[in-house]
Amino acid sequence: MDLPDPARLRIVLYPDPVLKRKCAPVEEFGPHLKAVTDRMLELMRKFRGVGLAAPQVGLPYRFFVCNPTGEPGDDFVCVNPRFTELSGSAEAEEGCLSLPGVNVNRRRPARAVMEALDTAGQPFTRTSEDLPARIWQHEAGHLDGRLIVDNMSTTDEIANRRALKQLKEQYDARHPGRSGSARR
Ligand code: ZN
Repeated sequence: MDLPDPARLRIVLYPDPVLKRKCAPVEEFGPHLKAVTDRMLELMRKFRGVGLAAPQVGLPYRFFVCNPTGEPGDDFVCVNPRFTELSGSAEAEEGCLSLPGVNVNRRRPARAVMEALDTAGQPFTRTSEDLPARIWQHEAGHLDGRLIVDNMSTTDEIANRRALKQLKEQYDARHPGRSGSARR
C-alpha cells in the first residue's frame, strides 16, 4: 500500500478513472493511515460533505470517513467495511463531493449492519437505520467504483445532464489528450 503525504491529498472529481476502480483491501494499519483519514475528514468538512471515500482523494483502497451530523465527536472512519445485513428500503436525494452540482434520488436498504476495522486494525460492528446507513452504503459503493450517476432514472439524467457535461469538459481541459470521459 502506497499512501502519499496527507497534505498533498485533494478531492478527485468525476469522471476521473480512479473513481471507477475496484479498490484493494487495506493491509497496513497505524499512524500513517490515521493521518490520511484525518486529512480526509478535514477535506470533507471543508467542502461540507457527510462522507468521503479513499478513491475520492485518488487512493484505490477500501476505506472511508464520514460524519452524519457535522459534530466533531461524530467523525467516523471505516476500513475494509463489509455489510452483514442490509434490509428495508428508503429513498432520498444524494450528492457526492466528486460530483459537485449533481443530485440523484437513490433507493437503498434502510437498515445496515456493518463490520469494519479502525485505523489501528481493530474490528468493530455498527448498526444504523438512519442517515448513517445511507452514507455507509454510498461510501462503500465508491470502494467498488460505483457512483450515484450509475443507473440514474430518466428524470435525474435530464436534471443532471448539464452539470455532468460541465464536469466532463472541465476534466478534459485539465487532462488534454487523456480524454477519460470519452473512453470510460
Ligand atoms: Zn460520493
